[in-house]
Amino acid sequence: MDDSTWMRLALDEARLALAHDDVPIGAIAVRGGEVIARAHNRREADGDATAHAELLAIRAASAVLGHWRLEGVTLYCTLEPCAMCAGAMVLARLPRLVYAAPDPKAGASGSVLDLLSHPQLNHRVEVTGGVLADEAAALIREFFAGLRAQMGYEALLHDMLHIRLAKSASFTRWDSRPLSEEQKVYAAEDVLDLLDLTTALQNRLAELGRLDWAREECRRLEAVSDERIPDVLWAKLPRIGGSDPKTRAVARELIEWREQAAQEADRPPSTVLQDAVLMEVAKRRPKSVDRLEQIRGLNQATLHRRGASLIAAVYFAGGQS
Ligand SMILES: [Zn+2]
Repeated sequence: MDDSTWMRLALDEARLALAHDDVPIGAIAVRGGEVIARAHNRREADGDATAHAELLAIRAASAVLGHWRLEGVTLYCTLEPCAMCAGAMVLARLPRLVYAAPDPKAGASGSVLDLLSHPQLNHRVEVTGGVLADEAAALIREFFAGLRAQMGYEALLHDMLHIRLAKSASFTRWDSRPLSEEQKVYAAEDVLDLLDLTTALQNRLAELGRLDWAREECRRLEAVSDERIPDVLWAKLPRIGGSDPKTRAVARELIEWREQAAQEADRPPSTVLQDAVLMEVAKRRPKSVDRLEQIRGLNQATLHRRGASLIAAVYFAGGQS
């Protein structure tokens, strides 16, 4: 096996750190064409500043070999080692290190300092850097960007169910009616995919021991999104701060109106009246449905079914202020 094949195993190991919110860094020790030890970063999991993947892998390899000297061992690490780990490699007389991404902030194999080929130390490690560097760096970058937590629907489907979404229907206009046959098939498949995805996600979370945690998080999110406080919604309206008092008063009334209309129609409030349109109505204060009709972006169903009631709300708010 070549270096990049081993490095892939180290990357797999690195991903295990994500289960406990540790920076995804992995290391494997190879001897005689065999993995004898593997470890991933456990700093957060163990609350231990020294629980680096490399150090843990060195310890595990020593335990397997029954000796502190790691003869014939090559260590594959997804990140350039820090001073502590590089020091341990020298102490263990490690013959060879292969690492993936350089660490410009703390790397002790040339980036910040160089312990592995220091002329005054009694052991020098043969180093190969940059093997699958992009993949390793991307993994760490994604971790810090929180991208794993917000993986898009398409990426999740591919990652968990190996399904690639057909592009054909995703760019069509879903708000036009009637839906085409193709759109209906697409939508039906989507529902089935979603059910499978739910099961796969549940299984993955259960495997990681995080299912209960996720349930708890979701419950909190649900509570937050269900709670719709009119004053808070009003304060979040676009450009409400710079509006004149009358516009502000009408907007406040329209918020109440929208919440009630949404409840009656059993639809999300934003589909009854979008924030931007609500502000436009508040600003123009139309006195008739004809005038209301001139406001752009107004939902046609709202106009026809609730136009009169909307005008009444505007009038009511105007009369109060
Ligand atoms: Zn380290």
